[in-house]
Amino acid sequence: AGGVIAAAAPSAKVTLDAFHLIRVIGKGSFGKVILVRRKVDNTLYAMKVLQKLNIMKRNQVEHTKTERSVLGRIDHPFIVGMKFAFQSHDKLYFVLDYCAGGELFFHLGKEGKFSEERSRLYAAEIALGLQYLHGFDVIYRDLKPENVLLTHDGHIRLTDFGLSKEGISHNIHGTNSFCGTPEYLAPEILNRSGHGRGVDWWSLGALLYEMLCG
Ligand code: ADP
Ligand code: MG
Repeated sequence: AGGVIAAAAPSAKVTLDAFHLIRVIGKGSFGKVILVRRKVDNTLYAMKVLQKLNIMKRNQVEHTKTERSVLGRIDHPFIVGMKFAFQSHDKLYFVLDYCAGGELFFHLGKEGKFSEERSRLYAAEIALGLQYLHGFDVIYRDLKPENVLLTHDGHIRLTDFGLSKEGISHNIHGTNSFCGTPEYLAPEILNRSGHGRGVDWWSLGALLYEMLCG
């Protein structure tokens, strides 16, 4: 299974030994996310751990390569940053900025809905993040409150590029795969007529509606 995903680390060689594992803070469909503390400087990070075997069994090799590639290319205040990436014989590790505020999903669930002012701020920050991704010809395709995280000071960070797609520069076509989360899916994904960057704006509309109306 070794070497399935050949990716160079973005900075000096780092391994699992460089971190104290603190606790599991997230579980997604393909991996888990662990809060870790880097030993040399005590910085907290979120470490996303993926099992290679699981990725292969569930045909996620391409998606995972895209996730690694996108994370390695981006640097934006409203998108989660990746500080290190490495692998062992059977696992992949992405070390990400820790977003201490947790998921937007949690806050929206607790409060029911947000004020117009707060919704406007989040929508504006998400819009800037999406615009930046689109500038790299990347579509995100998985905008939903579970993938929108908050920093300790209340700003948003988009995370989870497991469904994103590179090389899409058109607004209405470019790819055809059926993917996403039902509530936020643009109609052109549902009827499989081909889709492009526009699907992210559709999802932002769905999310804005949910923030304002609950
Ligand atoms: P999956 O692809 O399996 O959905 P995600 O990348 O969405 O995995 O991570 C799963 C969950 O872990 C997120 O919904 C969030 O709760 C938590 N998480 C992920 N990244 C971070 C981070 N950088 N800081 C804090 N929590 C995170
Ligand atoms: Mg997710």
